[in-house]
Amino acid sequence: MDKTIAVIRGDGIGPEIITQAVSVLEKTANIYGHRFIYNEIDMGGMAIDKWGEPLPDKMLQLCRESDSVLLGAVGGEKWNSVPGHIRPEKGLLKLRAGMGAYSNNRPAKIWKQLASASPLKKDIVDKGIDFIIVRELIGGVYFGEHKTDTADGIRYASDMMIYNESEIERICRIGFETARKRRKKLCSVEKSNILDTSRLWKKVVHEIASDYPDVTLTDMLVDNCAMQIVKDPSQFDVIVTENMFGDILSDEASMITGSIGMIPSSSLGAGTKGVYEPIHGSAPDIAGKDIANPIGTILSAAMMLRYSFGMADEADSIEKAVSEYLDAGYRTADILPREAEEKEKCILVGCSECGRLITNYIK
Ligand code: NAD
Repeated sequence: MDKTIAVIRGDGIGPEIITQAVSVLEKTANIYGHRFIYNEIDMGGMAIDKWGEPLPDKMLQLCRESDSVLLGAVGGEKWNSVPGHIRPEKGLLKLRAGMGAYSNNRPAKIWKQLASASPLKKDIVDKGIDFIIVRELIGGVYFGEHKTDTADGIRYASDMMIYNESEIERICRIGFETARKRRKKLCSVEKSNILDTSRLWKKVVHEIASDYPDVTLTDMLVDNCAMQIVKDPSQFDVIVTENMFGDILSDEASMITGSIGMIPSSSLGAGTKGVYEPIHGSAPDIAGKDIANPIGTILSAAMMLRYSFGMADEADSIEKAVSEYLDAGYRTADILPREAEEKEKCILVGCSECGRLITNYIK
């Protein structure tokens, strides 16, 4: 099968981790008889340097014409002082909106080989961590009007948070559908004791719940959810929430599974095209040192094969290769165990060696 992939290397560790994911994709294509054609896309800080904007329209068009997008990461100190409307992150928002990708799915699952890397106590980890956060991606405060001004000599800023019922309904339906394929528990997270957007959210999710009688729906306030994720993560199956809450909770959820470097994500809209990316950023503090963990990006590539290209066997073989790599004791620095005794059993590798080993494990 021929598939076109828009590849965004971006900034910081982006180029390093994407190189490893492409190597894994190439090996998979060779084994299974596919051909992946890569459209190289300029996005983020590097696109600001080259084109004066974080995602030129012609680049977005190339993404739209591709079968899916594989993204490393964008952003960095160098572009922190550019005007807000051309910040690297604006490229991300434009890409997500341009691809119509309103649903971001982030699994928080602990790999058995990495249980000791979790900062949570062993008895909590042993109860199991395996849930998915379904985050609304193209609405809410990140997409509302942003304003900074001065009134009566006092500077002020405001960010508008708007949700309409259709936006809420379509993401909550993804939550219910996802729960249906899993343990049939959906937790809707909001801040309905304070926010009108949350009160509408709660109403809508309960209105559609009768279409999913097999799924148990519960509600939780976002501050409580932040607490429960570290207190007893085993209680969650699927969490559905709005854009900003999902952004924050999914970073928290990634930490309890060991490392932000391990977690993939998919962002999908109405069709099969998606945006696949690790959940971390461009990690400028470790960029260019060949120490980043490329597994989140490699697993994102596997998700792309599974969910957008219908290549389940190919995705399985990538995930199995990652598991065998971990079984053999290889670790990038971010997932090295903290206890000296455990650490001694592991082999420290860099980003490119990690990619090479996983590529070799693919059968
Ligand atoms: P970050 O995720 O880049 O880094 C947070 C911490 O995690 C750092 O200590 C980093 O070294 C570590 N880390 C991240 N990915 C890692 C990996 N693969 N392997 C090992 N360690 C890893 O978040 P940040 O520092 O808040 O942001 C840095 C830049 O990235 C900012 O400019 C931010 O705007 C941008 N950002 C981009 C995206 C994206 O492209 N999707 C997402 C979040 C942040």
